[in-house]
Amino acid sequence: METYDVIIIGGGPAGVSAAIYAKRKLLRTVLVSKDIGGQALLTTNIENYPGFVEKSGMKLAEFFEQQLKELEVEIVEDAVKEIRIEGNSFRAICEEGRELVGKSVIATGGSSHRKLNVPGEDEFFGRGVYVCATCDAPLTKNKMVAVVGGGNAAFQSADLLARYATKVYLIHRRSEFRADGILVSRVKGHNNVEIITNAEVREIRGKDRVESLLLESLESRQVFELPVQRIFIEIGREIRLDYMKGLVITNEHGQVIVDRLQRTSCEGIFAAGEITDLPYGQAIISAGQGAVAALAAFDYLSEKRVLG
Ligand SMILES: Cc1cc2nc3c(=O)[nH]c(=O)nc-3n(C[C@H](O)[C@H](O)[C@H](O)COP(=O)(O)OP(=O)(O)OC[C@H]3O[C@@H](n4cnc5c(N)ncnc54)[C@H](O)[C@@H]3O)c2cc1C
Repeated sequence: METYDVIIIGGGPAGVSAAIYAKRKLLRTVLVSKDIGGQALLTTNIENYPGFVEKSGMKLAEFFEQQLKELEVEIVEDAVKEIRIEGNSFRAICEEGRELVGKSVIATGGSSHRKLNVPGEDEFFGRGVYVCATCDAPLTKNKMVAVVGGGNAAFQSADLLARYATKVYLIHRRSEFRADGILVSRVKGHNNVEIITNAEVREIRGKDRVESLLLESLESRQVFELPVQRIFIEIGREIRLDYMKGLVITNEHGQVIVDRLQRTSCEGIFAAGEITDLPYGQAIISAGQGAVAALAAFDYLSEKRVLG
């Protein structure tokens, strides 16, 4: 069985960038992913990726694929279900049975946003329902907006959106917030933010675009309609790293702790993008971390004198 210099897990911005840098360093590189593009495939509007003015996430993913093809990066269309340490190497076992052996691993499995699972959520996704305030805040200018959630991400979003929107409702199903007190105070200081507690979203409504949401009070059980045109769902993220549970140290949010060279607590395993503990989820940041991970993996392999 061929031993790769680096096995890259994930085909989002972090994994693609890692593959480009690894391949250009002449590392024997394999990228394992069921898709190329990652979360960018869910995006209709990317306006903050330098040099990319096409805007559609699909188009960005197409460019990713083209670049990987030109560089002849080997791609295995599968998902890694387990990584085992074998002496100085790593064995990646894929869902469909294929096994790959590598001298290093760059994990970039990304994350996914938790959903409310209410009617209208999927229908209006990207057309009034959003999951990233940093990405889509400009779309809320002079609009009525709701942010759902009670943690730091929800409060950071409300804090940002209050600068654009006419009004921001922050909706939380409990009376206590998980967000830091200082952030809660800052949001409460905006005179266009109203906090609604002990309420759950039951439905997102509209014709072509979002027009309102139905809220149920968990105290009175009364259902009422809130007129909003934009909704940001900030109820947490699932970090995708089941395949290396126990191998690397994670923080309280389940994100992989990395140093500034993207090294994890396990020698030879690097991590980049939204699975790491960097608090900003943006395509350019994942791509940057992917590049660092590949360069650091190259240095690691060079220092170990295991490069062919
Ligand atoms: C709706 C939406 C709009 C957004 N808008 C913007 C925007 O305008 N600007 C911006 O900069 N960012 C935007 N983002 C955020 C941006 O898409 C992410 O920050 C970025 O894609 C993260 O890149 P990543 O490579 O870290 O992870 P991801 O993009 O999540 O990619 C992870 C990859 O790993 C793969 N994977 C997962 N598990 C496994 C496994 N076990 N084995 C193999 N492969 C695996 C996945 O299939 C995927 O290919 C948006 C996100 C969403 C959802």
